[in-house]
Amino acid sequence: MTDTIFGKIARGEIEADLVYEDEDVVAFRDLNPQAPTHLLVIPRKSIRTLSEAGAEDAELLGKLLLVAAKVAEQAGIAKGGYRTVINCNAGAGQTVFHLHLHVLGGRALQWPPG
Ligand code: 5GP
Repeated sequence: MTDTIFGKIARGEIEADLVYEDEDVVAFRDLNPQAPTHLLVIPRKSIRTLSEAGAEDAELLGKLLLVAAKVAEQAGIAKGGYRTVINCNAGAGQTVFHLHLHVLGGRALQWPPG
């Protein structure tokens, strides 16, 4: 099991601006937001990256998406539109190796992403 800053946030060992938590999932504001609303949704379980999730994580992965939709709604960006992103491994821009889902909204988002 690898430890990361997000593992520490999940265990409450370091502070984050939490917007949601339950027994499996924590959501908090990104420290360096790329949009007016930029939230991160993480499992408490340490999974390094999406490609290392297994069949046993299917329910947890579904829950991450449902929590993303819930926090987007709570943040008031659901109607206007938001984007969910999972960067998987360094070539895609992943810098923190604890699985996390970005929720971005509050501005027009371009497609395709860079
Ligand atoms: P990645 O590039 O791995 O997909 O996303 C990592 C995200 O974590 C980045 O958007 C970065 O701004 C955010 N981040 C890095 N360290 C911290 C931290 O200590 N606290 C919070 N809230 N966000 C962080």
